[in-house]
Amino acid sequence: GGNMILAQENGRVMPKEDKIFALNGRAKKMIEEKGKDAVINATIGALLNDNGDLAVMQSVVDEIRSLKGADYAEYAPIGGIPAFKEAMVKAVFHDYSPKRFVEVVATPGGTGGIRNTVSNYSKPGDRIITCDWYWSPYSTICTEQGRTLDTYELFDEHGKFNIKGFAEKVYEVAEAQGDVCILLNTPAHNPTGYALDNEEWDKVVEILNDDRLKGVPVALFVDVAYIDFAGDPEEVREFLPKLDNLKENVLAIIGYSASKTFTSYGMRTGAMICMAATEEIAAEFKQVCEFSARNTWSNCNRSGQQVIANIFGDEKTLDIVRKERADFRDMLLERGKVFEEAAAKEGLDIVPFVSGFFVCVACEDPDDISNKLADKGIFVVPLAKGIRISVASISKEQCVKTVKALKEVLG
Ligand code: PLP
Repeated sequence: GGNMILAQENGRVMPKEDKIFALNGRAKKMIEEKGKDAVINATIGALLNDNGDLAVMQSVVDEIRSLKGADYAEYAPIGGIPAFKEAMVKAVFHDYSPKRFVEVVATPGGTGGIRNTVSNYSKPGDRIITCDWYWSPYSTICTEQGRTLDTYELFDEHGKFNIKGFAEKVYEVAEAQGDVCILLNTPAHNPTGYALDNEEWDKVVEILNDDRLKGVPVALFVDVAYIDFAGDPEEVREFLPKLDNLKENVLAIIGYSASKTFTSYGMRTGAMICMAATEEIAAEFKQVCEFSARNTWSNCNRSGQQVIANIFGDEKTLDIVRKERADFRDMLLERGKVFEEAAAKEGLDIVPFVSGFFVCVACEDPDDISNKLADKGIFVVPLAKGIRISVASISKEQCVKTVKALKEVLG
């Protein structure tokens, strides 16, 4: 017998384990050995309450329980059930009516929308653009499909969005490959918690409307996975009307995830929503994204869609869900503030943060820092340029403890 590994023979060689899941395993083991109080697990990308249990919206659970057999059992249409698609438009835009042509395609979580955008709005060999701090599946979704991720630095010297770097990267890639696909995660960016402000958004629109991109197909995927935990629901949506001003060659795609918004991570529900300049571009979006869906996951979880359709179908229920979410959001926003304040007090530099599930600290040798913290029972995620702390998964008290430990370890 030789050493043949079959997938490897086809060039399928990849990292053995997901770092985040591995760290989680280590944290769980330490909890078993030393007890819950000895461990701060700031690796988790889900909102936990102060006791460390998954925060689950009861109003959503009630809606899930009220589903009928067929709501689970039946296939959903490939593009999603109509009432769900309507709900997704309301969930993203609230009372705003986009002037552009809108189409919705259901996806399994926000991840599916990223996948479909890469497969349809870039070609094999292309570079997909995002910033240097990014959620790691951005990269693996690209490489899985024979593309690569290319980055610009997120921050300028003032800790604001690096407009210049963004523009240079976009124009360079346009020149080199003749098409542009951008993944832009805001507000409550994972991993930094940064959000583009309205002025920065104006500049992004200006750059994409520039004559240098004349005739170049541009897809701008705006990943709003965390929008409903980012701050005031209306304020965080102020950028959306700006996307109506993009030129015909620039297609905006909003990636929406029900995972956080409806605390239904496991129900794999979400949508990609286009804002297209023409009816033809919108129709093509629907066609190509449904085609991709059919050939990957086929149709999406029907029950997840039905739950959201039912919530949006009844004003009273929607109101209850929004109120319950607002409490969860306040809990998260408070933790972020506490972390920021503690860092300021200890003189610990954090990466520019506005709101969200995560805070980052830039450092040399993130793996080493993460290991040293793990020895103290504090689990964080090492990234290329620093470490990520999930304030979504730890209490305010633990935020303060984590800041102190970080200060010690980093010196
Ligand atoms: N985009 C970002 C930046 C995320 O962090 C996540 C979840 O962690 C998602 C999209 C979508 O996640 P899901 O597919 O679970 O909805």
